[in-house]
Parts: sequence; C-alpha cells; structure tokens
Amino acid sequence: MKTVYNFGGDADYSDPRQKDKTVTGGKGANLAEMAGIGLPVPPGFTITTEESLSYLTRGEAFSDKLRADVAASLAHVERAVGKRFGDPEDPLLVSVRSGARVSMPGMMDTVLNLGLNDVTVEGLAANSGHSRFAWDSYRRFIQMYSDVVLELDHGLFEEALEIAKEDRGYFTDVEMEADDWQKLVGQFKTIVEQERGEPFPQDVHEQLWGAIAAVFESWESDRAKVYRRLNSIPAGWGTAVNVQAMVFGNMGETSATGVAFTRDPSTGERTYYGEWLVNAQGEDVVAGIRTPQYLTKARREAAGADLPSMEEAMPEAYGELARVFDLLETHYRDMQDIEFTVQQGKLWMLQTRSGKRTAKAALKMAVDMADEGLIDQETAILRVDPMALDQLLHPTLDPDAERDVLGKGLPASPGAASGKIVLDADTAELWSNRDESVILVRVETSPEDIHGMHAAKGILTARGGMTSHAAVVARGMGRPCVSGASAVSIKLDERTLRIGDREFKEGDIITLDGATGEIMAGQVPTIEPELAGDFGVLMDWADKHRRMGVRTNAETPDDCRTARGFGAEGIGLCRTEHMFFDAGRISAVRAMILADDESGRRAALHRLLPEQRGDFAEIFRTMTGLPCTIRLLDPPLHEFMPTRDEEFEELSESLSVGVDHLKRRAAELHEFNPMLGHRGCRLGITFPEIYEMQARAIFEAACEVTAEGGDPVVPEVMIPLVATRRELEILRELVDRVAEEVFTEQGRTLDYLVGTMIELPRAALMAGEIAQEARFFSFGTNDLTQTALGVSRDDAGRFLAPYVDKGIYAKDPFVSLDIDGVGQLVELAAERGRATTPDIKLGICGEHGGDPESIAFCEKVGLDYVSASPYRVPIARLAAAQAAL
Ligand code: ADP
Ligand code: MG
Ligand code: MG
Repeated sequence: MKTVYNFGGDADYSDPRQKDKTVTGGKGANLAEMAGIGLPVPPGFTITTEESLSYLTRGEAFSDKLRADVAASLAHVERAVGKRFGDPEDPLLVSVRSGARVSMPGMMDTVLNLGLNDVTVEGLAANSGHSRFAWDSYRRFIQMYSDVVLELDHGLFEEALEIAKEDRGYFTDVEMEADDWQKLVGQFKTIVEQERGEPFPQDVHEQLWGAIAAVFESWESDRAKVYRRLNSIPAGWGTAVNVQAMVFGNMGETSATGVAFTRDPSTGERTYYGEWLVNAQGEDVVAGIRTPQYLTKARREAAGADLPSMEEAMPEAYGELARVFDLLETHYRDMQDIEFTVQQGKLWMLQTRSGKRTAKAALKMAVDMADEGLIDQETAILRVDPMALDQLLHPTLDPDAERDVLGKGLPASPGAASGKIVLDADTAELWSNRDESVILVRVETSPEDIHGMHAAKGILTARGGMTSHAAVVARGMGRPCVSGASAVSIKLDERTLRIGDREFKEGDIITLDGATGEIMAGQVPTIEPELAGDFGVLMDWADKHRRMGVRTNAETPDDCRTARGFGAEGIGLCRTEHMFFDAGRISAVRAMILADDESGRRAALHRLLPEQRGDFAEIFRTMTGLPCTIRLLDPPLHEFMPTRDEEFEELSESLSVGVDHLKRRAAELHEFNPMLGHRGCRLGITFPEIYEMQARAIFEAACEVTAEGGDPVVPEVMIPLVATRRELEILRELVDRVAEEVFTEQGRTLDYLVGTMIELPRAALMAGEIAQEARFFSFGTNDLTQTALGVSRDDAGRFLAPYVDKGIYAKDPFVSLDIDGVGQLVELAAERGRATTPDIKLGICGEHGGDPESIAFCEKVGLDYVSASPYRVPIARLAAAQAAL
C-alpha cells in the first residue's frame, strides 16, 4: 500500500485510495480531485493518515519506506515546478499542511514558505526580482516554523515585529520594506538561538522532516483532543500531511489571497461570497491582521466599503475564479468552501471542501439545489443535519421589542442570545456550569477558547471577519456570533469593557443578534420562529420518505401544542408525576404518601382525582384524534416527601396530625436506593388505589372530551418498570376493571390500550411472555441504560467525561443509545414481543428518541414510532426520514 500520493503535474490518480478521505484526509483527497478535473493546483503530495498513526505508535519515528517515498515525491514536485528544493539560485518552496478526514478549523498546524534559509532567500529575491517579497516570506517562515515545530513562544516574534514597526513609525505590515524585513529576520534568528540554544535550522531537509513530524504530532495536541471530544472524532483517524509547492499571494499588487464560498453560508443565497487581500499570504485573511476586502462588487456596495472588490480590482482573475466556482459546484453537487491565491495575475486553487453552513443556509441550499436539479429530493433530505434544525426552532429577537443598541459588528453566525458578559473561556465555562447564561467577549478567539465558546450562549469579538476563527467555530456549534465589532474595547486587567461610549463590567447582561450583528444592552425579548418556507418544504419531503411515526414526550397543554405545531403525531410519553408536583397538589400527594392506611390514602387521592382528570382532559383536547400514551405514577415516593421543617408543619396543620408522627412516617419510608426501590408498577401493586385513581381520571377525561364532539383520542395506559408478566397482568386487570366501571357510569365505550415500558433487562429478556399482557411496548431507554450498564444517571457526572475521553464509552450513553449493548436488549425484546403478539405496537420514549443516531437504530429494528421532546420533533422527523432512505 502506498504511503504517499502525488498530485498536480503529471500525477496519476488511478489508485482509488487517493480520493478516499480516510486515507488522504479531506484536504489531500480534494486537492487530488481538483487537480484531476484540470483545475490549477500547485503540485504536491499527500502522506497518508495511516503513516501518521504508525509514526505515533512507533514512538515518533519515520519508517525507511516513508523516507524513500517522500524523496521520490519531492522529485515529482521539483519536476512539475521546474525548481529544486534547497537550490541556492532558484529554490522550490513548499507548504506543509495537515488535513484530517474532516476539517478541524485551526486545530492543526500549517507551515508556509518552507525551504528558505540564509542562502535560498537571496536566490528567491534575485530570481523573483522582488526582494521585499523574499524577506517577508523568510520572516513568515521563521515565525511559523518556530511556533509550530520548535514550539517557541510566538509572542516574542510578534513583539519584535511591533517594535520594528514602531521604530519606523509604521502602522501596518504593508509599510515594511525589504531591508526592514531583512533586519527583522536577523532579530528573529537571534530570538530562536537564545530560546533554543541552537540556531534556526538551515538544512532544508531537516526543515521538511521537522514540519512533517510536527503535523503528525499535532494530532495528539491538547486542542486537537478537545476538538475531537466536542465533535466525536475518534483518535484512531489520524491526520494526513500535504506537502505542496508554494504559490505567492504576497508578490506585489497583482498578487492576492482569499477564501470564498460558492453560496452564502449564512443565508444560503446563491451569490458568491468571500474575502480577499491584495499582496498577502493565506493566513492573513483569517488572522484578522488586516481588514479583508469583499469579493464581489455588489457586496462591497451593499456594505458601503471603500477598498475595491476582487471583481473590480482583478476582473480577469475574478472571472476565472467564478468559472471555477461553477465547475466545483457541478462536480461536487454541493456548496464549496475554497482557498485561492493569485500569483502575479494567475489563479491557483489551494483547497476545496463542502462548506460549513448555518442551519438556515443548509435548508435553503438543499431545497434550492433540488429545485435546480443539482441533487434529488432524497439527497436534499440527507443534506441537512437534523441536529442543526435546533438552531431554527429556537426563538429570535422580537422585532418590535425595544433595543438599546450599543454597536454593530459582522453578522457572523445567526440566532439571538442574551447573557452575562465574560471575558475569558475559563470563566465562561465556570459560570455556565453554575447554570448562568454567558456571552463570551474576546478581542478575537483562538483554538484555546473552544471550551468557553461551547459553554457560552453567544460570542462577541472585537476583531476578525466573517471567516475568522470565532465565526467559523460559532457557525459549526450553532452559537450566535458577532465578530469584528470595532466598537468593543476590552480592559482585561480591570475585567471591564467599553462598547461604543458605554462602560460594562464582567457579569453585566448584553444581547447579541447574530443575524444583524447588533449588540444590545440588557435582555431583549424573543419570539417564536417561523416554520414555513424552506423548513416546511423539507419537512414535507421528509414526511413522505419516513416509515416511523414521530410522537412527543409532553405533559403540559403548552408543550402538547408546541409539539403538535412541530408535527407530532401523538404523545409517546406523558409523565403523570409532573402533575403531582404542582403547588396546589403536592400537599395532597404528601398526605397520600404519609397516610397510615388505605383509607387515609384514598381520602387524599380523592382530592387529586378532579385535578388529574382536568389535566388529562386538556391534553386530550389539544391532541384530538391522536394516540396519547400516559404513564402511571413512576418515581420513588421519596421524591415527593417533605424535607424542610416548614413543609412538615404545613402538612401537620392541614392533616391535623402531629409533626413528630409525620416525621416518623417519613423515616419509615426512607429508602437506601430509591431508584431501584419502591417505584413504578411496584407502587401500583402495593397501593392499587393510586393507579385506580389515575386510570379513572384518564377514562373520565377521555369520555368527557369525546362527549364534546371532535375526534376521540386513544388513551394508551402505560405501566412503568415492569419486570415480570404477573406484574403487568395484575395491573392490566386493574385498568380494564376501572375502564369498565367508567364506561358503565358514562354510558359509552372508547378504544384504549394497555401496555408497558420495557426498561429493565429482565423485561427485555422476558418480552415474549410480557407481550401476552401488553398491546404495546415503549422502550424506556433512560432506565434501560441505567439498569443495563449499572450506572446511575444522576451520579455518572463524576466519571462520564473521562470515560468518553478514554474511549470506554464511544459517547455519553444517556445521549446516544449504546447500540452495541443496550441496543441488543431493544432488538431482542422487539423480536420476542412480536413473536407472541404480532400486532404489538413498538416505540421508544427515552431521551434517545430525539437523537438521530439512536433514531437510525430504531428504524433498523423496525420500531413503529419514536417519541421526542417537543423541540426535537422536527429533528426526529428528519432523522427518521434519513434513516429510512
Ligand atoms: P488550514 O487548514 O488551517 O486552513 P491550510 O493548510 O489550508 O490550513 O493553510 C493555511 C493557509 O495557507 C491557507 O490560507 C492556505 O491557502 C495557505 N496555503 C497553504 N498551502 C499553500 C501553498 N502551497 N501556497 C500558498 N498558500 C498556501
Ligand atoms: Mg485551509
Ligand atoms: Mg423509567
């Protein structure tokens, strides 16, 4: 198997491994692809991801084969370019670029202009006729190489550059002249020698291998690890290394560099979108050193900017770029995010990939591209990440609300967020762990800030464009972001900031509108999102393609309405205990629990009956015509017990029973492990009067609502925590008996079902027997995960993160179903249940019912429906369609 693949020049692309991202990484595969369709790509080669992993496992050593293959590939590049690496007269320079399977923005390191030393820099200057350019390139190289490979403090170099500019009275890098750069190179070399105890490496081959090693090793850097964990990227993927001939955007006024999207990544509109800089190298655009210019005339005019657009300043190169955009979209059939450089008027392509986009843009592009005939409906459905819909389903700022606008930045990532100002990532994490909403405010963000950006509700930066680190990462995370807000100035030592002419302290509340770039004082009210348009179209397509039903987990009429609005086809889980916590009812519930005998309990339950009936009636009215699964009381009673003295006193007064007596009762009822204690159907077995009351409330409410006319609901009465057939048999008989009584009293009968949750391993194993008593199973995967893994969800916090970090759990098993283990129980129970009761209805109501990967599994084992919390219903609809395709 090849360790290195060539691209550009006369490279041969016949080995399919070269276009496989798992082998050559995203960047390498796409460079080969672009070169293969005849686009202008500087020649180079890609070292496989496999090599990076074997380098790491070999204890950071290169294999002999790799050394030989790289030497051969370097010769390929030299031939293609017509220059030799290390040639003192006319040197070949290369970039060394990392490229994992998926893009990890800013996570891995790149070295540009490699191959320069004290001798070749003179050759480059003489040969190009641009000595400023040669010395600028050399100082960039020393700076990057020292940072990435030698791991010296980059602040030292930046400081030296600042001082050099100050000494000469310059404001920007552009003013630096050839001999200014040359002097700075001397200073840089001194810094290296002082810090390292050795001079800057002059041997170009040593430079090359040093850079390759650094890219390999960056896979195990802390920031790469954090990024991997946040994005569920396995450590076993590794990164490829791309070595590529340099092209120069810093060769004067006819040279430039830029980044662009073939459509607007923020709105999805079909307009070219991007930023560029004249006389600059790649990193300058994203680093925010200079303010980038607009790509198109229309955008520049709309923004009222002075600096010319590329369309105006370099019409020929721009025309060529536009042609490439169209070619790339037709080839990849998706929006592309590209990097380009213009060297003395000639366009070169340095990267392309499917562009990250906001949820809104993803939807619009999917629907538009299907309409344009670029993709089919199925592909459109698959294009949108269901989880990304979350961004669209949440509220935006109320356009009619008053806004105390402080200033404006770039609308870098849409959505609205309010929260307390925090000035660094650690504080953001700390405060958010205390359940506070925070807005992270930074001059600009860097990969070290990722954890803080994740913890924040929104991100505000003083510097950086639409493609800055903050903007790209925020869009990926779905966090609203306003970038490049020059009105913001931060005083970190005082923990204060100014926005425009107003002072703020860390902890003051501000609001961001990522769609307009506005920054506002205080909290601005929000409104519900609009669900028509592209969203509605895609959801219709999804509904046509999905097999499973989608229900919701809801227990309040409000939640039911929201869920119905989002397309829920019934209730999959109505947790009745939530109704017990209501302020007006908790005392009756406590009286019931602490009663000494059945008659005491019945008296208390009698007070609860009308309340509970009212709850159900309202839910049934909201859900007319749809099935509603109602779970009878489930939690351990200790959750309702009074704990504070005032609570005991209150209760003692209302029951006319002594406080001491109540406390003694409470002590008697204490459980050591309530989650595995007296709960679920065990309550129904020992205190049948509780379930009788609930069943009565359900059937009376159903009769009441049916009597009002309209489509009747179908109550599905669900018995929790069943482990044996006999439990379900006893309780099913109880429910049937109550139904019979109510129907006789009311003079009507209604359809209803009795079924059970499958949430204990024994129930899953005995599903064949249990199904004889059940008309439906609903997989309670939260408890099933707890009981199968022997992990208490409430106590797992202490070890869950390290378990995920170490790869012991692939993901948090309470978020994404443990398909390998718990999944077997689900699959087996589904099979055994169907074997005895072929028409048994199967659904899932755990948290996993709203998780796309778990939904895909439900499709695979043939469940009839999934049930998700109201805001997850559209996510589940789309995920169910994707699973069915
Ligand atoms: P990242 O993944 O962080 O974008 P890249 O490897 O793509 O890192 O490179 C960083 C910057 O350097 C980009 O702007 C890229 O276009 C530029 N660059 C990389 N290789 C070359 C090259 N051979 N010639 C000119 N510019 C390059
Ligand atoms: Mg790049
Ligand atoms: Mg449960």
